[in-house]
Amino acid sequence: MRTSLKLAVTGIAAALVLTACSSGDAEPEESSTAGGGDEMMEFAEGSTMAALSEAGTITIGTKFDQPLFGLVGPDGVPEGFDVEIGKLIASKLGIAEGDIEWIETVSANREPFIEGGQVDIVVATYTINDARKEIVSFAGPYYVAGQALMVLSDNDDITSPDDLAGKNVCSVEGSTPAQYITDNYPDATLVTFAAYTDCLEPLRNGQVDVVTTDNVILAGYVADSDGEFKIAGEQFTEEPYGIGLALEDDEFRSWINDVLEEAIDDGSWLDAWNATAGEVLGDPVVPTIDRY
Ligand code: GLU
Repeated sequence: MRTSLKLAVTGIAAALVLTACSSGDAEPEESSTAGGGDEMMEFAEGSTMAALSEAGTITIGTKFDQPLFGLVGPDGVPEGFDVEIGKLIASKLGIAEGDIEWIETVSANREPFIEGGQVDIVVATYTINDARKEIVSFAGPYYVAGQALMVLSDNDDITSPDDLAGKNVCSVEGSTPAQYITDNYPDATLVTFAAYTDCLEPLRNGQVDVVTTDNVILAGYVADSDGEFKIAGEQFTEEPYGIGLALEDDEFRSWINDVLEEAIDDGSWLDAWNATAGEVLGDPVVPTIDRY
Protein backbone atom coordinates (compact mmCIF):
# COMPACT_ATOMS: atom_id res chain seq x y z
CA MET A 1 0.00 0.00 0.00
CA ARG A 2 1.29 3.43 -0.86
CA THR A 3 1.95 5.72 2.00
CA SER A 4 2.25 9.13 0.43
CA LEU A 5 0.95 11.97 2.50
CA LYS A 6 -1.76 14.45 1.96
CA LEU A 7 -1.47 17.72 3.67
CA ALA A 8 -4.42 19.01 5.52
CA VAL A 9 -3.55 22.53 6.48
CA THR A 10 -5.76 24.28 8.91
CA GLY A 11 -6.03 27.99 8.67
CA ILE A 12 -8.48 30.77 8.56
CA ALA A 13 -11.73 31.52 6.79
CA ALA A 14 -12.80 30.12 3.48
CA ALA A 15 -11.88 26.63 2.44
CA LEU A 16 -9.35 26.48 -0.30
CA VAL A 17 -8.62 23.32 -2.14
CA LEU A 18 -5.69 23.19 -4.48
CA THR A 19 -5.36 20.17 -6.61
CA ALA A 20 -2.24 19.72 -8.63
CA CYS A 21 -2.76 17.97 -11.95
CA SER A 22 -1.52 14.46 -12.02
CA SER A 23 -0.36 12.64 -15.05
CA GLY A 24 0.92 9.15 -15.58
CA ASP A 25 2.16 7.72 -12.32
CA ALA A 26 2.56 11.07 -10.69
CA GLU A 27 0.96 11.28 -7.30
CA PRO A 28 -1.77 13.88 -7.01
CA GLU A 29 -0.98 16.34 -4.30
CA GLU A 30 -3.68 18.09 -2.46
CA SER A 31 -3.83 20.49 0.36
CA SER A 32 -6.89 21.89 1.95
CA THR A 33 -7.76 24.31 4.64
CA ALA A 34 -10.19 23.38 7.31
CA GLY A 35 -11.49 25.98 9.72
CA GLY A 36 -10.92 25.76 13.42
CA GLY A 37 -7.25 25.61 14.22
CA ASP A 38 -3.89 26.86 13.20
CA GLU A 39 -1.89 23.67 13.42
CA MET A 40 -0.29 22.07 10.42
CA MET A 41 -1.56 18.53 10.17
CA GLU A 42 -0.53 15.68 7.98
CA PHE A 43 -2.71 12.67 7.52
CA ALA A 44 -2.00 9.57 5.48
CA GLU A 45 -3.68 9.62 2.10
CA GLY A 46 -6.88 7.66 2.08
CA SER A 47 -7.20 7.75 5.86
CA THR A 48 -10.43 8.68 7.60
CA MET A 49 -8.56 11.56 9.23
CA ALA A 50 -7.59 12.99 5.83
CA ALA A 51 -11.13 12.59 4.52
CA LEU A 52 -12.75 14.28 7.53
CA SER A 53 -10.16 17.03 7.66
CA GLU A 54 -10.67 17.79 4.00
CA ALA A 55 -14.44 17.68 4.33
CA GLY A 56 -14.16 20.14 7.22
CA THR A 57 -16.98 18.44 9.08
CA ILE A 58 -17.58 15.37 11.23
CA THR A 59 -20.80 13.69 12.34
CA ILE A 60 -20.75 12.67 15.98
CA GLY A 61 -23.34 10.55 17.73
CA THR A 62 -23.97 11.42 21.37
CA LYS A 63 -26.71 11.26 23.99
CA PHE A 64 -29.10 14.20 24.13
CA ASP A 65 -30.73 13.48 27.50
CA GLN A 66 -27.89 12.70 29.89
CA PRO A 67 -26.79 15.60 32.09
CA LEU A 68 -23.02 15.91 32.61
CA PHE A 69 -22.16 13.82 29.49
CA GLY A 70 -24.48 14.63 26.61
CA LEU A 71 -27.44 16.92 27.09
CA VAL A 72 -29.18 19.21 24.64
CA GLY A 73 -30.48 22.30 26.38
CA PRO A 74 -33.11 24.78 25.20
CA ASP A 75 -30.60 26.36 22.81
CA GLY A 76 -30.31 23.05 20.93
CA VAL A 77 -26.59 22.77 21.51
CA PRO A 78 -25.35 19.58 23.20
CA GLU A 79 -23.08 19.89 26.21
CA GLY A 80 -21.25 17.57 28.60
CA PHE A 81 -18.05 15.59 28.91
CA ASP A 82 -18.79 13.36 25.89
CA VAL A 83 -19.48 16.47 23.84
CA GLU A 84 -16.16 18.00 24.92
CA ILE A 85 -14.31 14.80 23.98
CA GLY A 86 -15.99 14.95 20.56
CA LYS A 87 -14.95 18.59 20.13
CA LEU A 88 -11.38 17.73 21.09
CA ILE A 89 -11.17 15.08 18.37
CA ALA A 90 -12.76 17.41 15.82
CA SER A 91 -10.31 20.19 16.65
CA LYS A 92 -7.37 17.86 16.01
CA LEU A 93 -8.83 17.32 12.54
CA GLY A 94 -9.00 21.08 12.05
CA ILE A 95 -12.78 21.05 12.37
CA ALA A 96 -14.34 23.93 14.30
CA GLU A 97 -17.05 23.33 16.89
CA GLY A 98 -19.66 24.92 14.66
CA ASP A 99 -18.84 22.49 11.86
CA ILE A 100 -19.61 19.40 13.94
CA GLU A 101 -22.90 17.72 13.11
CA TRP A 102 -24.35 16.24 16.31
CA ILE A 103 -26.74 13.33 15.97
CA GLU A 104 -28.66 11.79 18.84
CA THR A 105 -27.68 8.21 19.45
CA VAL A 106 -29.61 6.21 22.03
CA SER A 107 -28.07 3.09 23.53
CA ALA A 108 -29.55 0.62 21.04
CA ASN A 109 -28.67 2.41 17.81
CA ARG A 110 -24.99 3.15 18.41
CA GLU A 111 -23.64 0.08 16.60
CA PRO A 112 -26.15 0.35 13.71
CA PHE A 113 -25.37 4.05 13.24
CA ILE A 114 -21.64 3.34 13.06
CA GLU A 115 -22.12 0.36 10.75
CA GLY A 116 -24.51 2.29 8.52
CA GLY A 117 -22.27 5.36 8.31
CA GLN A 118 -24.85 7.74 9.79
CA VAL A 119 -22.10 8.84 12.19
CA ASP A 120 -18.32 9.00 11.93
CA ILE A 121 -17.83 8.39 15.63
CA VAL A 122 -19.97 7.83 18.71
CA VAL A 123 -19.11 9.48 22.02
CA ALA A 124 -22.07 8.48 24.17
CA THR A 125 -21.31 6.86 27.55
CA TYR A 126 -20.48 3.86 25.39
CA THR A 127 -19.02 0.89 27.24
CA ILE A 128 -16.21 -1.00 25.51
CA ASN A 129 -16.90 -4.72 25.64
CA ASP A 130 -16.11 -7.85 23.65
CA ALA A 131 -19.59 -8.31 22.19
CA ARG A 132 -19.59 -4.77 20.79
CA LYS A 133 -16.02 -5.15 19.56
CA GLU A 134 -17.33 -7.76 17.11
CA ILE A 135 -19.35 -5.01 15.43
CA VAL A 136 -17.47 -1.74 15.97
CA SER A 137 -14.03 -0.53 17.12
CA PHE A 138 -13.30 1.47 20.22
CA ALA A 139 -10.67 4.05 21.01
CA GLY A 140 -10.20 4.79 24.70
CA PRO A 141 -11.25 4.38 27.38
CA TYR A 142 -11.47 8.09 28.12
CA TYR A 143 -13.31 7.43 31.42
CA VAL A 144 -14.32 4.40 33.52
CA ALA A 145 -17.79 4.43 35.08
CA GLY A 146 -19.70 1.66 36.89
CA GLN A 147 -23.28 0.43 37.02
CA ALA A 148 -25.33 1.58 40.02
CA LEU A 149 -28.93 1.94 41.20
CA MET A 150 -31.10 5.03 41.66
CA VAL A 151 -34.24 5.10 43.83
CA LEU A 152 -36.59 7.65 45.36
CA SER A 153 -34.89 9.41 48.26
CA ASP A 154 -37.24 7.92 50.85
CA ASN A 155 -36.59 4.34 49.70
CA ASP A 156 -34.24 2.53 52.07
CA ASP A 157 -35.20 -1.01 50.99
CA ILE A 158 -32.77 -1.23 48.10
CA THR A 159 -29.06 -0.85 48.70
CA SER A 160 -27.55 -3.40 46.30
CA PRO A 161 -28.57 -5.47 43.27
CA ASP A 162 -29.22 -8.37 45.67
CA ASP A 163 -32.33 -6.47 46.77
CA LEU A 164 -33.87 -6.46 43.29
CA ALA A 165 -35.87 -9.72 43.41
CA GLY A 166 -39.52 -8.92 42.75
CA LYS A 167 -38.75 -5.26 42.01
CA ASN A 168 -39.50 -3.36 38.82
CA VAL A 169 -36.16 -2.23 37.46
CA CYS A 170 -35.99 0.33 34.68
CA SER A 171 -33.17 0.57 32.17
CA VAL A 172 -32.58 1.05 28.46
CA GLU A 173 -32.71 -1.28 25.46
CA GLY A 174 -29.31 -2.21 24.10
CA SER A 175 -27.44 -1.08 27.22
CA THR A 176 -24.95 -3.05 29.28
CA PRO A 177 -26.83 -2.34 32.56
CA ALA A 178 -30.02 -3.90 31.17
CA GLN A 179 -28.02 -6.91 30.00
CA TYR A 180 -26.34 -7.23 33.39
CA ILE A 181 -29.70 -7.38 35.19
CA THR A 182 -31.04 -9.95 32.71
CA ASP A 183 -27.94 -12.12 33.09
CA ASN A 184 -27.45 -11.90 36.84
CA TYR A 185 -30.76 -10.97 38.49
CA PRO A 186 -33.48 -12.96 36.74
CA ASP A 187 -35.84 -12.46 39.70
CA ALA A 188 -35.99 -8.74 39.00
CA THR A 189 -38.61 -7.51 36.54
CA LEU A 190 -36.72 -5.52 33.93
CA VAL A 191 -38.58 -2.74 32.13
CA THR A 192 -36.73 -1.11 29.22
CA PHE A 193 -37.23 2.10 27.28
CA ALA A 194 -35.23 3.85 24.55
CA ALA A 195 -33.57 6.41 26.82
CA TYR A 196 -32.89 6.81 30.53
CA THR A 197 -35.08 9.90 30.88
CA ASP A 198 -38.01 7.61 29.96
CA CYS A 199 -37.43 5.89 33.33
CA LEU A 200 -37.70 9.04 35.45
CA GLU A 201 -41.48 9.54 35.47
CA PRO A 202 -42.15 5.82 36.14
CA LEU A 203 -39.74 6.10 39.10
CA ARG A 204 -41.55 9.17 40.42
CA ASN A 205 -44.99 7.61 40.18
CA GLY A 206 -43.98 4.20 41.53
CA GLN A 207 -44.41 2.19 38.33
CA VAL A 208 -40.79 1.16 38.76
CA ASP A 209 -38.77 0.86 41.98
CA VAL A 210 -35.30 1.42 40.62
CA VAL A 211 -33.49 2.91 37.64
CA THR A 212 -30.19 1.30 36.75
CA THR A 213 -27.39 2.50 34.55
CA ASP A 214 -23.90 3.92 35.05
CA ASN A 215 -23.25 5.80 38.29
CA VAL A 216 -22.20 8.97 36.48
CA ILE A 217 -25.41 9.12 34.42
CA LEU A 218 -27.52 8.56 37.53
CA ALA A 219 -25.52 11.24 39.36
CA GLY A 220 -26.64 13.74 36.72
CA TYR A 221 -30.31 12.88 37.27
CA VAL A 222 -29.87 12.99 41.06
CA ALA A 223 -28.23 16.42 40.82
CA ASP A 224 -31.14 17.72 38.75
CA SER A 225 -33.85 16.10 40.91
CA ASP A 226 -34.09 18.60 43.76
CA GLY A 227 -33.65 15.86 46.34
CA GLU A 228 -36.22 13.52 44.81
CA PHE A 229 -33.78 10.75 43.78
CA LYS A 230 -30.66 9.19 45.32
CA ILE A 231 -28.05 6.62 44.39
CA ALA A 232 -28.56 3.41 46.36
CA GLY A 233 -25.35 1.66 47.40
CA GLU A 234 -22.14 1.33 45.42
CA GLN A 235 -21.31 0.69 41.78
CA PHE A 236 -21.10 -3.02 40.94
CA THR A 237 -19.57 -3.20 37.44
CA GLU A 238 -16.86 -1.41 35.47
CA GLU A 239 -17.95 0.48 32.36
CA PRO A 240 -14.97 1.78 30.38
CA TYR A 241 -16.20 4.48 28.01
CA GLY A 242 -14.86 4.26 24.47
CA ILE A 243 -15.22 6.21 21.27
CA GLY A 244 -17.01 3.98 18.81
CA LEU A 245 -15.93 3.90 15.18
CA ALA A 246 -15.98 1.60 12.17
CA LEU A 247 -14.80 -1.93 12.87
CA GLU A 248 -11.91 -2.15 10.43
CA ASP A 249 -10.57 1.37 10.81
CA ASP A 250 -7.46 0.63 12.91
CA GLU A 251 -5.66 3.71 11.64
CA PHE A 252 -8.44 6.02 12.85
CA ARG A 253 -8.70 4.15 16.16
CA SER A 254 -4.97 4.46 16.75
CA TRP A 255 -5.04 8.16 15.86
CA ILE A 256 -7.94 8.85 18.27
CA ASN A 257 -6.01 6.99 20.97
CA ASP A 258 -3.05 9.32 20.28
CA VAL A 259 -5.36 12.33 20.59
CA LEU A 260 -6.74 11.06 23.92
CA GLU A 261 -3.28 10.33 25.32
CA GLU A 262 -2.09 13.76 24.31
CA ALA A 263 -5.17 15.35 25.89
CA ILE A 264 -4.55 13.46 29.13
CA ASP A 265 -0.90 14.58 29.10
CA ASP A 266 -1.47 18.23 28.24
CA GLY A 267 -4.37 18.78 30.65
CA SER A 268 -7.13 19.31 28.09
CA TRP A 269 -8.83 16.04 29.13
CA LEU A 270 -8.95 17.28 32.74
CA ASP A 271 -10.12 20.74 31.67
CA ALA A 272 -12.97 19.12 29.71
CA TRP A 273 -13.90 17.02 32.74
CA ASN A 274 -13.76 19.92 35.19
CA ALA A 275 -15.94 22.10 32.97
CA THR A 276 -18.66 19.44 32.72
CA ALA A 277 -19.08 16.23 34.74
CA GLY A 278 -16.44 17.29 37.26
CA GLU A 279 -18.73 20.03 38.56
CA VAL A 280 -20.87 17.31 40.14
CA LEU A 281 -18.56 14.30 40.28
CA GLY A 282 -15.34 15.90 41.52
CA ASP A 283 -11.88 14.65 40.65
CA PRO A 284 -11.73 11.86 38.06
CA VAL A 285 -9.52 8.80 37.94
CA VAL A 286 -7.27 9.15 34.90
CA PRO A 287 -7.92 6.25 32.50
CA THR A 288 -5.29 4.17 30.74
CA ILE A 289 -5.78 3.91 26.99
CA ASP A 290 -6.23 0.31 25.86
CA ARG A 291 -4.69 -0.21 22.41
CA TYR A 292 -6.12 -3.69 21.90
N1 GLU B 1 -22.33 2.47 29.47
C1 GLU B 1 -23.47 1.65 29.28
C2 GLU B 1 -23.65 1.23 27.85
O1 GLU B 1 -22.88 1.61 27.00
C3 GLU B 1 -24.72 2.31 29.82
C4 GLU B 1 -24.93 3.71 29.38
C5 GLU B 1 -25.64 3.83 28.06
O2 GLU B 1 -26.56 3.07 27.78
O3 GLU B 1 -25.27 4.73 27.32
O4 GLU B 1 -24.53 0.49 27.53
